[in-house]
Amino acid sequence: MMYADLILPVPLRGLFTYAVPEGMAVQVGCRVVVPFGRGTTYVGIVMRMHDVKPEGYTVKPIRQVMDAAPVVTATQLRLWQWIADYYMSPIGDVYKAALPAGLKAEDGYRPKTETYIRLTEQYRNVTALHVALNVLARAKNQLAAFTEYLALSHWDEIPDIRTEDIAEVTKEELMNASGASAETLRQLEKRKMLETYEVEVGRLNHGGEYRPELIKPLTPPQQDAYNQILMAMMKKNVTLLHGVTGSGKTEIYIHLIKRALERKEQVLYLMPEIALTVQMMQRLQRVFGDRLGIYHSKYSDAERVEIWQKQLSGHPYDVILGARSAVFLPFQHLGLVIVDEEHETSYKQQDPAPRYHARSVAIMLAAPSNLPQLGGAKVLLGTATPSMESYHNAKTGKYALVELRERYQGIQLPEIQVVDTADLQRRKMMAGPFSPLLLARVRETLERGEQAILFQNRRGFAPVVECHQCGWVPTCQHCDVSLTYHRQLNQLTCHYCGFTYRVPTECPCCGGTDLRTRGYGTEKIEEQVRELFPEARIARMDLDTTRTRNAYERIISDFGAGRTNILIGTQMISKGLDFDRVSVVGILNADTMLNQPDFRAYEHAFMMMSQVAGRAGRKNRRGLVILQTKQKELAVIRQVVNNDYAALYSDMAAERQLFHYPPFYHLVYVFLKHRQDAVVHTAAIELGSRLRQWFGGRVLGPDKPAVAMVKQQNIRKLVLKLEHGIDMRRVREYLLQAQGQQLADKRYSSLQIYFDVDPL
Ligand code: ADP
Ligand code: ZN
Ligand code: ZN
Repeated sequence: MMYADLILPVPLRGLFTYAVPEGMAVQVGCRVVVPFGRGTTYVGIVMRMHDVKPEGYTVKPIRQVMDAAPVVTATQLRLWQWIADYYMSPIGDVYKAALPAGLKAEDGYRPKTETYIRLTEQYRNVTALHVALNVLARAKNQLAAFTEYLALSHWDEIPDIRTEDIAEVTKEELMNASGASAETLRQLEKRKMLETYEVEVGRLNHGGEYRPELIKPLTPPQQDAYNQILMAMMKKNVTLLHGVTGSGKTEIYIHLIKRALERKEQVLYLMPEIALTVQMMQRLQRVFGDRLGIYHSKYSDAERVEIWQKQLSGHPYDVILGARSAVFLPFQHLGLVIVDEEHETSYKQQDPAPRYHARSVAIMLAAPSNLPQLGGAKVLLGTATPSMESYHNAKTGKYALVELRERYQGIQLPEIQVVDTADLQRRKMMAGPFSPLLLARVRETLERGEQAILFQNRRGFAPVVECHQCGWVPTCQHCDVSLTYHRQLNQLTCHYCGFTYRVPTECPCCGGTDLRTRGYGTEKIEEQVRELFPEARIARMDLDTTRTRNAYERIISDFGAGRTNILIGTQMISKGLDFDRVSVVGILNADTMLNQPDFRAYEHAFMMMSQVAGRAGRKNRRGLVILQTKQKELAVIRQVVNNDYAALYSDMAAERQLFHYPPFYHLVYVFLKHRQDAVVHTAAIELGSRLRQWFGGRVLGPDKPAVAMVKQQNIRKLVLKLEHGIDMRRVREYLLQAQGQQLADKRYSSLQIYFDVDPL
């Protein structure tokens, strides 16, 4: 009798053994359907085959095999196992994260379509549009929806508009933007003004040939860096390219990809989700044509299934451009992995498990031990602001380091002027969140027909609402945080659990009616900028304005084409946007970033500010950044001004070494969650002393995290600081054992304990 050990999509540790019925052809890496528990069936992945009969329970048979050939390769299974071990999460969770949903379902997948809206043929000219607007003059809702459509699609720019500038508009987007009901749109369809059409979601690759002749020749400094990278790759598995913003790192990647293709190697090009803009994709697609596949979470599952299967087939994509989850795709002859913007914290998956870092997984994916037949693949990490971890590895010789200090065409890095807002506030010279200098520079910029970016790292209208009489602040009923006021939606929102509340008209504590907002979110900034610069065209980019994929792309392309003058946004605007008309960038409040209660606060503040600052700069004039802060004396401010990463690194390194933080020590956070605070409180103390028996002074806590309750779960956190060289395998064994012992206690039956390894 043969048995198969399966990975099942359940959050339990270990594999599950099933019997292979006589005559059933089962292979490692194939999907099988099996019964589990009472009446449930799951699609599992075969991890191992053997003939050892399990003892102590009746083994159930596999019900059905779904594949004739493996859908998960041996290399992938090895990687899954590594992730499960290293991040201490059940392999079933890795399986859930890795495989597109369509491959996990018993009944396969169906292509999904999206509804778009456009003008009917007969209205696609000025005269007809005027007629339409006249006809609609008395149907207010329809008129509003119709004009909104014209604005979104750019038909309102007639007569200058060229057909290629007409933007496609989804029905969902139009309804969101105009507030129109489905009925209103139906009436417009009945009038034969608008019509709908269906597009299959994620038909991405519009083909095109591989056109290496379109690759731009490298400049001498770029060529030099390119050569250094090739040299470095002969000696090291991982190379860090530290190149200032706009130095042409992407052009260097393109040359490296071309070289890999010539050597018949596959390339994985990872980017943070948010930097994967249409601009970026087009830049690569233009050159690599149908040899490029794109893989990220905004695409439909059907598309992802298709790419997965193509990667297993005889004609896989040679280049995959993708976000975090692309590390899970199958590759047949991977030669190069590029991790762009390697410092980006969004490479780390926070929730749910596995809490993996895509940079670490990518390095592991490429490791010789994971790709023994190929001898490993090379990894290139690229960024203008390296993470402390990667820079440390480069400094200590684990990685190679290549630096590129010049921007393309010698465009200067922006000048950064620091504005002391504490002083200006004392002298009552601030206009809300704006200093006089910032307003003057924005005004000049607009007069010259150039563009400005205003960066505020908080969305919503105001982070706090407060009763002016007694100081009461509305908080979330499910989480331990105050609620953010969103004016457009006229509601209070919890940014932790997403719950929304009506805005109270009076204070429940004292009955007072003078409720005031405190602080500035992007929405309020936008409102004030509109008042200050009524003639300017303004756009805002944050989580609230980019709910749909199209909205996000539209804001970027409108700004890129000069259709908007001022772009206000959260850190979203700092990612990979390449604009050449931005002459001023305002960082409105550096203090919200600097004052985070986190040992990485300065590192992250430096990255964010340097990245946004990097958006400023034009072909023939130096860009300007106005950095507003109340703490202008801080070294990190000076380091941002001088773009002095080395100084930041050495300051931070001294501190981290002293206080036992990464990159000098490993961190593991242990989280405990329970509905009752008293239960989680005792459990955490007990677990703490259990861990101290083994780890001694390496254990800190338990503590309440800054937000100590989320979604009704009370949270405690223990911190482990582990020196390099400690046997991590033993550490993980101890931790899992302690977790098991704790959970075996009847009092803790509904307690959750989980680990965050290398937390961010
Ligand atoms: P980075 O990725 O380092 O921020 P990019 O590769 O995006 O920089 O380059 C910034 C801009 O300069 C882009 O518009 C890019 O097309 C242009 N550029 C960079 N290098 C070259 C080159 N060798 N030839 C032509 N254009 C270049
Ligand atoms: Zn009150
Ligand atoms: Zn909440």
